[in-house]
Amino acid sequence: MRCPICLSRVLVSLGLLGLVTMCTPATPPRPIYRIGFSQSVSSGDWRQAMLAGMERELAFHPEIQFLMRDAQSSSQRQQQQIHDLLQAGADVLIVAPNEEQALSSAIEEAYRRGVPVILLDRHTTSPHYAAYVGGDNTGVGAAAARYAAQLLRQRGQIVEITGSSSSVTKERHNGFVQTLRAYPQMRVVGAVSGDWGTTALQPALTELLRNYPETRLIFAHSDLMAQGAYEVCRKLGREDIRIIGVDGLAGAGNGLEMVQQGRSTASLFYSPGGEEAIRVALRILHHQAYERENILGTIVIDSTNALTLQQQAAKLTSQQEGIEQQQLLLRTLQATYASQRTVLYGLVISLLAAVGLGASAWRAARNNRRINQQLARQNEANDAINQELVRQNEANDVINQELVRQNAANDVINQQLSTQNEEIRAQRNQLAELAEQARRETEAKLRFFTNFSHELRTPLTLIMGPVEEMLTGRNSTALQPTHRHDLGLIRRNTQRLLQLVNQLLDFRKIEVGKMAVQAYEEDVVAFVRELVETFEPAARVQQVGLTFVPVEPALPAWVDRNVLDKVFFNLLSNALKYTPRGGQITVRVQPDDEGRTLQVQVADTGRGIRPQDSPHIFEWFYQGEQPATAKGSGMGLALAQGLVRLHQGQLTFSSQVGQGSTFTVTLPRELPRELRATDAAAPLAFSLDEPLVVPAGDAEGPVSEAEALVLVIEDNADVNEFVARKLRPHFRVQSATDGKTGLQLALELIPDLIVCDVMMPGLSGLEVVARLRADWRTSHVPVILLTARNAPEQQVEGVQAGADVYLTKPFNPAFLLESVRTLLANRARQREHLSRQLVATTETPAAPNPDQAFIQALTAQVETDLTRTDLTVEELAHALGFSRMQLYRKVKAVLGTSITDFIQSVRLQKACELLRDETLSVTAVAYEVGYASHSYFSNSFKARYGLAPSEFRARHQAGVS
Ligand code: ADP
Repeated sequence: MRCPICLSRVLVSLGLLGLVTMCTPATPPRPIYRIGFSQSVSSGDWRQAMLAGMERELAFHPEIQFLMRDAQSSSQRQQQQIHDLLQAGADVLIVAPNEEQALSSAIEEAYRRGVPVILLDRHTTSPHYAAYVGGDNTGVGAAAARYAAQLLRQRGQIVEITGSSSSVTKERHNGFVQTLRAYPQMRVVGAVSGDWGTTALQPALTELLRNYPETRLIFAHSDLMAQGAYEVCRKLGREDIRIIGVDGLAGAGNGLEMVQQGRSTASLFYSPGGEEAIRVALRILHHQAYERENILGTIVIDSTNALTLQQQAAKLTSQQEGIEQQQLLLRTLQATYASQRTVLYGLVISLLAAVGLGASAWRAARNNRRINQQLARQNEANDAINQELVRQNEANDVINQELVRQNAANDVINQQLSTQNEEIRAQRNQLAELAEQARRETEAKLRFFTNFSHELRTPLTLIMGPVEEMLTGRNSTALQPTHRHDLGLIRRNTQRLLQLVNQLLDFRKIEVGKMAVQAYEEDVVAFVRELVETFEPAARVQQVGLTFVPVEPALPAWVDRNVLDKVFFNLLSNALKYTPRGGQITVRVQPDDEGRTLQVQVADTGRGIRPQDSPHIFEWFYQGEQPATAKGSGMGLALAQGLVRLHQGQLTFSSQVGQGSTFTVTLPRELPRELRATDAAAPLAFSLDEPLVVPAGDAEGPVSEAEALVLVIEDNADVNEFVARKLRPHFRVQSATDGKTGLQLALELIPDLIVCDVMMPGLSGLEVVARLRADWRTSHVPVILLTARNAPEQQVEGVQAGADVYLTKPFNPAFLLESVRTLLANRARQREHLSRQLVATTETPAAPNPDQAFIQALTAQVETDLTRTDLTVEELAHALGFSRMQLYRKVKAVLGTSITDFIQSVRLQKACELLRDETLSVTAVAYEVGYASHSYFSNSFKARYGLAPSEFRARHQAGVS
């Protein structure tokens, strides 16, 4: 429904609009064109007639705005006025020049501005005018001559009165005299200059007429001068002389009247050209064709036509006045029409508004009636609803009372429940505490077991050494059979103990996530075959068949031997343990999942696993039913499963009691990069997601066993010699016979390992160790301490001082040899670990070990001089308090790499950082990390990382975006 108020507002607005329109006065049509007129002088009848002619013509063109300027006979002023008219926006310019010469520049200006110029009455020297309108002065002169000949019957004397020295005078004169040549008996006896006025000519003319009494005719170049001539003739009593003037204008005192009154015989009409000039201007403005030169004709006015012309002129004037009056009337009518139209609009709008308001009022009234009816109906309905509500409220009251009763009952139940909840919560807390306590206890136990196992391993190794030496050494043949049997027993049980301890330690490592996979790509078939072969003797002894079935001759995959060795060892041990004599064990290696994975199956025909044991056999320390012969710990399968999972594989089994069991290890053939050994032979593929890994080692490779230098410090010459002799076949050996020289030699040579006696005169072995450890140059060198005393506190002292192994004399030489080897191998491992750590992270560990501290100091020193291209190893060694050789050997021992290679790795690693940052150009990065040439930098970078610095940056950018 439309809002009646809104509608009425609209209508009222319309009414107001009408009123406003009504009050607006009618505006005359705006002029569309401007015609500028520069008049040389406006005084004088001829000039006035020119203007009157223009105005007459313009009366028919209200769209034209007419701008006139009077130069009052000043050429300079006229120039300025033309300029002003152009400024005022004249579309066409009519110029009646004051002088021909002076106006050219003003005409040129109009031409430049593109405003057409119409010259009136006179030419100027400029050719740039659009049109010329003017009389034919030569023609006027000629017409005068012909008329004179007619009057004088072609004979008699004539006097000429000229105006000034202008072109008009010249042309009129020429026209006159040239035409007179045709009449030889007519002669101009003299000429007088009258300066276009009545008086100036009189003295000279009087004189001339006296001198030439035969004069019969005077030709004056204007009617005004003709009047002067008339006055002279009258004074001289020569009214017989005929006078011809020029102009022939109507009006009092002008040529037409003079002829009529007989003061002059004739006048040659010379049109001022006002109408014509305006007509040409209009043609130009309306882009119509026009003549450039508009020469106006002349007629002779004499007694024969003067009256007619006079009447025509009067008629023209009265017509002109009539036109003006009619125009005035027209304008008044237009104004009246405009205001009446406005009033009419206003009335129509008001009427419309009134009708609209009436309609909206009627509609509003009708709507109101409808609404009222609806309201009445609604009220009736409301009454019914209200009655219903009253009824419902009563019913609700009943329900509410019931609810109140039920709530009371619920409150009682809730209280009971909350008491029960409290109890449950207390019990749960108690359980959680118990669980936590159990966890802590288990953890403590495991820690204890782990520490204990560690403790067990050292004495077990120490037992194994001598036993091994006794059984296999030079004097083993002299052993009595019973002793050999006992020693064999000791060896087997020690081995078993060692295995258990190792398993326990592995278990712990898996638990705390310290076990890491370091896979290499190799042939799994060959690897498993080797393992199976080691079990063949035992299988033979137990009379169990052992078959190896590789489905394919070779199966390359990424595997960590250390991890899988333990897995397959346990599976094979179990198979052998739970398979009776005459049984069969089959080991199968086959690809699976379309070659993406591989399977190693160990199947036996043993006693199988009981269903009640099946769910538990992978639990730590779970043991099923044990045969009398088999001894177990319940760790084997749990460890195997933990290790297989670590290797991203699965360990499953199937078994039937009495039939046998099959254990299947399924492994992926590819492993993620983080599980691959970083010094793998495979080419180093670079990835942006991972920290950049620099391959450890350099061209020379890590220290090999034969290259390793061992320093023996022992004051007892025999023992010294004995130890040296034992080691010499395997290593390079140097000896010192006291602590002081030993220490000196150690600092000079930086050996790879030192075997040192504890009890020595002067500097004791413990002091030597302490000093070696305290000195950066030797802090990394492993030390084996030898002593005759086996007091435990001595051992503690030795370990505290920093010895790696403590051997009591008499020691087993084979065991010493193994210890040296183990320590060197450990050193190599540490080296590898350290170099990997070094490249993997640039962050400083909280408490670095001496090797890490050294590397940090070295790195810091290199970084201080990183931008220097001429940094030498000598300078670096000197800054750290090393000799060149000491630094070389230290870096080699700690990182397995040469010092120059290390410096380069620091430079290039810094370069990686700067390249990732993207603020410096590649060349700037090269200089920043101490490379004098871009190409050398680029080659070194490429050699290390396999791609050019620019590619590295591009990939980094791609990776980041
Ligand atoms: P154990 O040291 O007892 O062998 P494991 O963890 O290796 O511990 O094995 C757990 C249990 O699984 C064993 O006690 C044994 O009952 C059962 N079991 C393992 N391998 C076999 C097998 N090949 N045949 C039958 N039973 C086996």
